[in-house]
Amino acid sequence: MQKLSRELASDGKRIGLVPTMGFLHDGHLLLIKRAKKQSDITITTIFVNPTQFAPTEDLAKYPRDEKGDIAKIKAGGGDIIFIPRTDEIYADQFQTYVNVEKITQFLEGRHRPEHFKGVTTIVAKLFNIIRPDLAVFGQKDYQQAAVIKRMVRDLDYPIRIIVAPTIRDKDGLALSSRNKYFSYEQRQEAVCLYKALKEAKETIKINPNIKPTQVKTAMMRVIKKICSSAEIDYMAFTDYETLEEISKFDKNSICSLAVNLHGVRLIDNMKIG
Ligand code: AMP
Repeated sequence: MQKLSRELASDGKRIGLVPTMGFLHDGHLLLIKRAKKQSDITITTIFVNPTQFAPTEDLAKYPRDEKGDIAKIKAGGGDIIFIPRTDEIYADQFQTYVNVEKITQFLEGRHRPEHFKGVTTIVAKLFNIIRPDLAVFGQKDYQQAAVIKRMVRDLDYPIRIIVAPTIRDKDGLALSSRNKYFSYEQRQEAVCLYKALKEAKETIKINPNIKPTQVKTAMMRVIKKICSSAEIDYMAFTDYETLEEISKFDKNSICSLAVNLHGVRLIDNMKIG
């Protein structure tokens, strides 16, 4: 892969990278479409990265469909697909990690302490292997995109980071490979994250001076009404740039949440300013 991408670069090709963990849906395909717009060659990677999963998380059962993914990428106009083996990426005695310090402490990072260290390490490795001109990430994992942008700035990667909008199902549920875990009935309840975000947005629109705690109570009510067994990991109102919690809403406010539904942990976010 390294040799191929060096050859492409020396032929003057602009390389666009789309890193994924596979089991692709329309959200991923939109990232490829976005990459295609600004590059000559798009490279999609499929790698279920073990270092970003905690031992208690779903690494072993994470859904996989390599054949289906390859067909989707080809149909979506992706040029090159890179599917490395785990032992190629993490060789014996692997012990070097990339860690973004501050913004990884909030939101997801608070609940998944080693997660972002795994993400930045694999993304840095993919950047080093592929040396893309640009890389596309999804707004659905907005903190992840912010962490990658920080890493690119701090480590001087000459790579443009593009953040593509969240793609949702008709009812509003953000597309996610993990949605596959749900039964039909559970899937209907999974819309509660989106409904709670909408509730927040509308409540704040009507009363911009409302306190975040009051909005959280309203969101909680919406979630519990749709799925009484839902366990809320966190709901947070933060500043879009700094990711720090806010006490007053403004145009840079974003609401993020993580909810455990029937043993599946989903995340979502919405700009509310
Ligand atoms: P994953 O395979 O879930 O690790 O995601 C790979 C990339 O796809 C990440 O940049 C995600 O943010 C992005 N992504 C996942 N779901 C969506 C979605 N519903 N809409 C847009 N981008 C997404």
